[in-house]
Amino acid sequence: MTKQILKVEHLDKAYQNQSVLHDINFSINKGEVITLLGPSGSGKSTLIRTLNGLENYQAGKIFFEGQEVVPTEKNWQKLRQKIGMVFQSYDLFPNLTVLDNILLGPTKVQKRNKEELLPEVVDLLKRVDLEEYQNVYPRQLSGGQKQRTAIVRALMLHPEFMLFDEVTASLDPEMVRGVLDIIKNLANQNDMTMIIVTHEMNFAKQIADRVLFLQDGSILEDTNGQDFFDHPQTDRAQKFLKSMD
Ligand code: ADP
Ligand code: MG
Repeated sequence: MTKQILKVEHLDKAYQNQSVLHDINFSINKGEVITLLGPSGSGKSTLIRTLNGLENYQAGKIFFEGQEVVPTEKNWQKLRQKIGMVFQSYDLFPNLTVLDNILLGPTKVQKRNKEELLPEVVDLLKRVDLEEYQNVYPRQLSGGQKQRTAIVRALMLHPEFMLFDEVTASLDPEMVRGVLDIIKNLANQNDMTMIIVTHEMNFAKQIADRVLFLQDGSILEDTNGQDFFDHPQTDRAQKFLKSMD
């Protein structure tokens, strides 16, 4: 049985008077990996942020595991324990070490204790090659290392669903691969459900079960990954892929 993680119905979102997302409809099943593609300004970040309760919306419904989300801050706070998100900017706390950045959520939000958490942190840090950096502050890390720390921090909450918004966009080219490899491993090993916004087309091609192609706030295509990259249906998507070559 496939389990539906998220469903979005007729979602409309505006900033002040500017309409940014129009009638968004899609769903994602457990273990599925969607890449959300589209030109700059098409609404990708806004959509991702809306799915995590970081933006309000004017119309439509969001269902998480079959249940309609009543969009109060309290409900979203609870849901964010199941929905991990990593952004383009690393947003680590500069005054906390790598270890304390990672432990903050599970100890404060989930009230788990540090000793119980340590073996898991160490294991995750090993997996992203950061074992030696536990007691280092963010300013002493490269961009790639910061981003890997942010991923570990999100994973510590055991999310069922991960959102990645251009996590490699501000990295030096030589750092990109390491971060993308970690996301690929997650997708393969853990049966993790993910929506990934990326400009790395080769990576998108390798990882996407499905592609949502967004243009001017509307989903123009919702197709399986292979079909999208082999023969995009709309002129807009064809042009977009050409421009990314
Ligand atoms: P993308 O991530 O695809 O580049 P965004 O979701 O960032 O697109 O932006 C979609 C549109 O919404 C753009 O026109 C952008 O200018 C606008 N927008 C984004 N964030 C805000 C905001 N906080 N306030 C007002 N307008 C915004
Ligand atoms: Mg964006």
